Amino acid sequence: MTIRGPLQLTLALLKPDVTRVPHVIQAIRSKILSEKFLVVRHKEVRLSKQDTERFYGEHQGKFFYNRLVTFMASGPTQALVLAREDAIKHWRALMGPTKVYKTKYEAPYTLRGLYGLTDTRNSTHGSDSPETAAQEMKFFFPEFNWEHWQKCEEEMFRKGLVTFDEKDFIHRVSLENRSINKSVN
Ligand code: ADP
Ligand code: MG
Repeated sequence: MTIRGPLQLTLALLKPDVTRVPHVIQAIRSKILSEKFLVVRHKEVRLSKQDTERFYGEHQGKFFYNRLVTFMASGPTQALVLAREDAIKHWRALMGPTKVYKTKYEAPYTLRGLYGLTDTRNSTHGSDSPETAAQEMKFFFPEFNWEHWQKCEEEMFRKGLVTFDEKDFIHRVSLENRSINKSVN
C-alpha cells in the first residue's frame, strides 16, 4: 500500500473513561487502522493531578477545570502518536465535537458520539494544530524527536515500508528497510 501525500503527526489520547472498557479500546483501535492512520508511538500512562493540570493549563479557571483534572487523573490514559495525511483534522473529525450530550444527537457515529459518557468524560483527545501537536507529543513522549522522524522515517511510513505489531499496537519500519536508512534507530 502506498500512501501519497506527506504524513502529518498528531497526538491522540484514549481517556480514562474508555481505557476501562476493553471492547471500546478495541473498537477505537479498529477505527484508527481502518481510517489508515499509522501508529508511530503508543503507551499507557497514569497521569498525576499535577501532570493533568500542566497538560490542560489553558483551561485553568473554567468551570469544568477541576472536574477535568480529577477525571484525567482517575485512571490510565493511552497516548498515541498517529501519522496520516491531514492527521490533525482527520482525527478531530473522527472524534466529533467536544460536548457529548449534544454530539450524541448531532454526530452520533463519531467516537465521542458513540463512546463518550459526559461532556467531560468524552472518550478521546486530539491535538488541534501543528503547534499543539508538537507540544503534546513532547509532553507524552519526551524522548520522541518528531523532527528527526519527519526527516528519517516519514518516507518509509508513507511508502508503507512498515510492519504492524498487533500486540503493542504500533507500526515499525520493517527490518529490511532499517539497513537502507542507517539513521533510523
Ligand atoms: P477538545 O478536547 O475538543 O479540544 P477543549 O480543549 O475545549 O475541547 O476542552 C478540553 C477538555 O475539557 C474536553 O475534551 C472535555 O474533556 C473538557 N470540557 C471542555 N468543555 C467542557 C464543558 N463545557 N463541560 C465539561 N467538560 C468540558
Ligand atoms: Mg482542546
